[in-house]
Amino acid sequence: MNYDLIIIGAGPAGTSAAISAARRGASVLLLERGRFPRHKVCGEFVSAESLGLLRDLLDLQHAALIRDAVRIPRARVFLDGRTLQASVDPSAASIARFELDLALWQSALSAGVEARQQVTVQSIAGCGPFRITTSDGEFETQALVNASGRWSNLNRPPVENGVPREKWLGVKAHFTEPPSEPSVDLYFFEGGYCGVQPVAVAGESGGRVNASAMVRADVASTLPEVFARHPALRERSRKWSLLSDPVSTSPLIFRRPQPERDGILMAGDAAGFVDPFVGDGISLALRSGALAAHCLGPLFAGEAALSEVVRRYRQAYEQSLLPVFRASSTLRRMLVLPGPVRKPLLFILERTPAMTDYLVRKTR
Ligand SMILES: Cc1cc2nc3c(=O)[nH]c(=O)nc-3n(C[C@H](O)[C@H](O)[C@H](O)COP(=O)(O)OP(=O)(O)OC[C@H]3O[C@@H](n4cnc5c(N)ncnc54)[C@H](O)[C@@H]3O)c2cc1C
Repeated sequence: MNYDLIIIGAGPAGTSAAISAARRGASVLLLERGRFPRHKVCGEFVSAESLGLLRDLLDLQHAALIRDAVRIPRARVFLDGRTLQASVDPSAASIARFELDLALWQSALSAGVEARQQVTVQSIAGCGPFRITTSDGEFETQALVNASGRWSNLNRPPVENGVPREKWLGVKAHFTEPPSEPSVDLYFFEGGYCGVQPVAVAGESGGRVNASAMVRADVASTLPEVFARHPALRERSRKWSLLSDPVSTSPLIFRRPQPERDGILMAGDAAGFVDPFVGDGISLALRSGALAAHCLGPLFAGEAALSEVVRRYRQAYEQSLLPVFRASSTLRRMLVLPGPVRKPLLFILERTPAMTDYLVRKTR
């Protein structure tokens, strides 16, 4: 069967591309190797600038997902015994991936996308049109979006001079905690950080937090080990009980974003993985998926060749999405500065909330 568009991976990037392209009248096949609903490693902080897009992508049955989400109006950073506070304005939303990915999947189905779960794409041939081989047969398509995430069998391993880089992993679970003033709390320690924020799931009246950590593999590999790295977090987590089985992922790799490869439009983490603590990964995934579908419109209408579409996508990606990567890596570099440089800087930031607000805004 020949499609206008095949999309590999049904996270926020893949579903955003699928829904946007199907609404433009394209025949779309969306392939996902896992099953929904499922928990994914994520802080579940959905930044405000993509909430409008998310609202637009979801079908009417899932409107409550945004309406009933916990709002996050402030961020707190716990580092070196200090607490930096910043407002998150407009407020972000906290949405469990367990519900978000399923809602987007179901919205793709109602937009007319042919969506198949538990189908793994094994290989890709051609550079437009494409033939793809999957665990469920072969398919052909005019255009291909790779939205298979930061680490899949289709994205090459980053090995420098034959030596893999230091290994980082992500781990996450939901816990019980009595409701309090909502904020996203980031606990930094040598070799990682852990984010904690309240999250609501349908049918519950509150009392749930998500704890998600990014940590160097030689520092910790489980959440209790992570909690033990930070005194305030150790204390806070003492009364928690597990509400979901912990999930983990590795390796986490930062590299220069690559929005196109061999005529394939790359979206979401497959294009580039942004520092998770800035909470922009889901937003970038939704936006890049929608952008890919938008740029593909003229190809489906027979008005542009794939090479032209790819050029426009690369250009638009670099203009609108690349600045977020730059700002977040500046912020990360600042937080991992050597102690003697970082400590005076934190001292200043602690006393100048306006400057902290400014830095947070720069990653938006
Ligand atoms: C510790 C941590 C904390 C984070 N916290 C936040 C946060 O608070 N806020 C935020 O916005 N972002 C956060 N992120 C980032 C966010 O999770 C990602 O940026 C987001 O999930 C990217 O979406 P995606 O659609 O690109 O990829 P994914 O959600 O990873 O989806 C990719 C999909 O592709 C499928 N797939 C892979 N290979 C194949 C194949 N060969 N065939 C078929 N299907 C395939 C996978 O099963 C998967 O479902 C965090 C990440 C980490 C690691």
